[in-house]
Amino acid sequence: MSQLESLGHVIEADILIIGGGIAGLWAACKAREYVNNVVIVEKGPADWGGLASRAGGDLDAVIPEEKIEDWLSDIVYYFDGLCDQEIVKVILENSYARLADYEYLGHKFLRGPDGNLKGILQRGLDHVKCFLYRPYGAGGSNMVRVMQEKANQISVKRFGRIYITDILKTGSTITGAIGFNVRNGDFYIFKANTIILATGSSCLDIALKAGVELKNFEFGHVRNDPKSFLWEGQTNLLPLGAYFVNAKGERFMDKYSPILRNNTDFHYNVIGMAIETRAGNNPFYLDCSEMKPADIELMKPEAGWLKLSYDRLLASGINFFQGKTEWQPRVGGNYGGVIVDTKGRTKVPGLFAAGTTWATNAGVYMGGWNLCKTAVTGYIVGESGGEYAASAKNAQINPYQVETLKRKIYSPLKQNGILPSRVGMAIRDLIQPIEVSILKNKNSLTVALDKMGFIKEKLLPQMTAKDTHHLMNLMDVNWTALSTEFNLTASLMREETRGGHTREDFPKRDNRNWMKWIIFSSDGENHVNVRSERIPLEKYDVKPKRYYMDNFRFT
Ligand SMILES: Cc1cc2nc3c(=O)[nH]c(=O)nc-3n(C[C@H](O)[C@H](O)[C@H](O)COP(=O)(O)OP(=O)(O)OC[C@H]3O[C@@H](n4cnc5c(N)ncnc54)[C@H](O)[C@@H]3O)c2cc1C
Repeated sequence: MSQLESLGHVIEADILIIGGGIAGLWAACKAREYVNNVVIVEKGPADWGGLASRAGGDLDAVIPEEKIEDWLSDIVYYFDGLCDQEIVKVILENSYARLADYEYLGHKFLRGPDGNLKGILQRGLDHVKCFLYRPYGAGGSNMVRVMQEKANQISVKRFGRIYITDILKTGSTITGAIGFNVRNGDFYIFKANTIILATGSSCLDIALKAGVELKNFEFGHVRNDPKSFLWEGQTNLLPLGAYFVNAKGERFMDKYSPILRNNTDFHYNVIGMAIETRAGNNPFYLDCSEMKPADIELMKPEAGWLKLSYDRLLASGINFFQGKTEWQPRVGGNYGGVIVDTKGRTKVPGLFAAGTTWATNAGVYMGGWNLCKTAVTGYIVGESGGEYAASAKNAQINPYQVETLKRKIYSPLKQNGILPSRVGMAIRDLIQPIEVSILKNKNSLTVALDKMGFIKEKLLPQMTAKDTHHLMNLMDVNWTALSTEFNLTASLMREETRGGHTREDFPKRDNRNWMKWIIFSSDGENHVNVRSERIPLEKYDVKPKRYYMDNFRFT
């Protein structure tokens, strides 16, 4: 038995993909054309498919009769100029080919009697469209199914219930990754000289520790959801005439944006809700009763969990499309992601990223964009990672490094201390207030950052896990803490309002000082650096002249 095998299960891979969501599946299927031994490792069940398994399955794509430049111009405008145009352009250029791949694999999009795809314009933009999957309601799970079938046909290996904690390097060379089984606690060592990170927005600390740079943390995730049942599809309901009203029955967004009204991103509708709440005009309701009958038919769930939800509502006497249902804002997570080039390469040779790990969004989102992005970037990275792996040398893992890390990973087990869930709650409480996450200001961000400092210093080191399932939770809370700290730090730095970042004390856009990214990097486990970097507008096609944020007047 080798020194490594004495430490845990050793799995060899030509390419290791961390994360078995839809981006990981795309990357795996493409990479398999270049190398034989493609391995996906997933902390959930091997075949759950990540968030896509719950998604609508709708997709943005630039169809052949449309122009990439038009879509790019829309997105630069929508992101208020804060757009990596090279990255977005490459996503758009490849979008239709991936839609066609999906159809070929058995994931069908809605077409009219003329055979043309039927799309819904997003957020009041002129060109960006989301194409709908049929039957409505089971789209995401169908996407996952077709990609898993493909992965099975070409013998992509999939390991579930293994939580990856660290990426291994010798010098600057990637040698593999380690993690533990969240059920039985077994330790795993994956040997691979090419790794594709497809963990969505979670666990990016493992990339940071490996030397990858991150950005876009100032942009928090906010959305609206029904208060007492599950629904998805707001992204298409609002363009089709559904509207939010406040407790007085007023269409409050009309006064904040007479042009777009509430046909916009969650972020703007939530700002409207925050201001209305301060005036005592909450709660809020979504009213679909003025949608045209044909559009109601279009959006009526036909399958999946959405149909179950719809039927349950009907059984309790509520017709979703005929009355008002109560909705509320929700805050959680952020748009922080990994900095990559157009091939999905990070700064670390051999370490690639796919899917929603790519930092593309300035805090606003177009319906259908993520499933477009996951398919396109998964494919691109499968190709670039596959080429890299085909010519890379054998990985040589240092057993002493693994032994040291292993001891550290399991150290929070079975000690007295604080439960991770309690610390997670403390972080959620800190980020929830309107003035920390929605209408930010210097004072509230500084106070929140101080509280975060306390959590980091006093609570995180005392967290304990009674088993390896809780150990996974503990590690997730560590990432939540770090990404929240990044969110607060970057929010404080960006002294302006732009995209999904709103500062009440700096309500204007400041192009002179803030046409910049805020970037986090690490030169060791505990040393995080933050810097800003000018956006290279001179090399981009679109010079920002119009700004989506100008459609709104919240003061
Ligand atoms: C209800 C709902 C409806 C949606 N509808 C749409 C839609 O119609 N159109 C659209 O474009 N988007 C939609 N989305 C968004 C879209 O589904 C997701 O953004 C997309 O699926 C993300 O894919 P991903 O592969 O990048 O990340 P994820 O799905 O987050 O996958 C990442 C995977 O990595 C695993 N992982 C993370 N860390 C580790 C670790 N340390 N070790 C091992 N494994 C790890 C996770 O368990 C996860 O399975 C919807 C989302 C939801 C929730």
